[in-house]
Amino acid sequence: MTTALPDLTPSTGATDFIDDARIEALIAATPEDPVRVREIIAKAMAKIPLLPEETAALIAARSPDLHGEILAAARQLKKDVYGNRIVLFAPLYIGNRCVNDCSYCGFRSSNQDAIRRELDSATIQKQVQALTGRGHKRLILVFGEHPDYGPEFIRDSVKTVYAAGDIRRVNVNAAPLDVEGYKIVAEAGIGTYQIFHETYHHDAYAKAHPRKTRKGDYLWRLDGPSRAMQAGIDDVGIGALFGLADWRFETISLVTHARHLFERHGVGPHTISFPRLRPAQGVVADPRFTVSDEDFIRLVAILRLSVPYTGMICTAREPAWIRDALIGLGVSQVDAGTNIDLGGYSEQGDATVVEQRTVHHHTDLKKAQFELADTRSVEEMVERLVDGGQIPSFCTACYRAGRTGEVFMEYAVPGFIEKLCTPNALTTFQEYLCDHASPALKAKGETLIRSQVAGIADEKIRHMVAERLQRIAKGGERDLYV
Ligand code: SAM
Ligand code: SF4
Repeated sequence: MTTALPDLTPSTGATDFIDDARIEALIAATPEDPVRVREIIAKAMAKIPLLPEETAALIAARSPDLHGEILAAARQLKKDVYGNRIVLFAPLYIGNRCVNDCSYCGFRSSNQDAIRRELDSATIQKQVQALTGRGHKRLILVFGEHPDYGPEFIRDSVKTVYAAGDIRRVNVNAAPLDVEGYKIVAEAGIGTYQIFHETYHHDAYAKAHPRKTRKGDYLWRLDGPSRAMQAGIDDVGIGALFGLADWRFETISLVTHARHLFERHGVGPHTISFPRLRPAQGVVADPRFTVSDEDFIRLVAILRLSVPYTGMICTAREPAWIRDALIGLGVSQVDAGTNIDLGGYSEQGDATVVEQRTVHHHTDLKKAQFELADTRSVEEMVERLVDGGQIPSFCTACYRAGRTGEVFMEYAVPGFIEKLCTPNALTTFQEYLCDHASPALKAKGETLIRSQVAGIADEKIRHMVAERLQRIAKGGERDLYV
């Protein structure tokens, strides 16, 4: 077994665009200014991405009136840009060996109690079969950072997933690579390459990531999404792990990072993630940086307004009630039926997938990176969405039709949602109802579908969708995306 990571190939044009002093000054010195806040909200409603100082002004707005206006605006913007669809996915952990020693993570190298392993092809296949058996079409593969998990290993894992069943989009969350490495991973046809910067605050970053480790190199990681774009990966995901530094600092930094990508590559990040620190084996959180539920809800609404076209992901780290609340406020993707134990999807016993619809899984901290809070099954999540008038979408059409990166930003073009997103959400949801739902959920879901079809204003599109739904439900056709 290899012990060292290959040398880094320095990236071209990498700059450290996070200026701690400037961001701290914005937090300390931006006054609460109702007139300015309302102007900024109006700018966001016109779908113009905000400047970091404008995000800071929203953060400074604490009075109940302004707080209410920010939440209402985020709610409206979410509807305007994304409609009432929520994209569902599941994470699949491939390997938890790791050379890094991140203070917050159950996979850190100094955690002797973690059970280390990676999934071989046969186990990946079993996992994928279990996941597709529950209705998933979109996965994110997750890896520790280890010499054995190089670009070829990641690429081959992605290929194994595509070959194992009806997964139509595979995203990756792994350590940042060099440009050549990303090109190798891209050969497998990945969707998004996701890298969280964890904390943008330089001192907090150094504290959480020992300098001698690969992850201790702040700039190497900060530049990771840019290198992915240089390598031709159009969709990159960024994120911060909330709980390592002041949440206001992380929020302004995420907006700064999104802007940097847009200015440098002409495309912003495809998604932003904002995980809050969860209990993990041997991890002690710093209470100074705990983000309260109230602040968390605020920061998600502020992010929604700051980056109108960026997808926002909220994972099962959060409890059900927070996820349900955030869906209306700006979140566009959630995971469902999540199990983060390595091998966990099939090793709970897949022969009984139907019975497992209601099984609540308890995370095993020896095998998992951290503890989950929302253990709802796919079916429970789908039912909750339907009850709230949201269309659960298993759509993967954009990236398969080449609508990625810059083109994806066209998303905001009037008619895009009605012409493409709503039809694809409805047809993939109909597939789910036919193939995976209980009779009661199927009936409920089809009622929602009918009302959504009736609400499509353009007659041609309405007929096209109705005809496709028939072909799926009655003719047994699948994967009819536009
Ligand atoms: N090893 C890769 C890396 O570090 O980029 C893959 C990432 S890790 C398996 C996925 C993400 O989980 C991390 O980037 C981090 O933000 C998050 N994470 C780690 N420990 C966590 C914890 N205790 N609670 C919540 N999220 C955590
Ligand atoms: Fe390894 Fe990633 Fe966990 Fe850090 S966050 S210890 S790099 S798996």
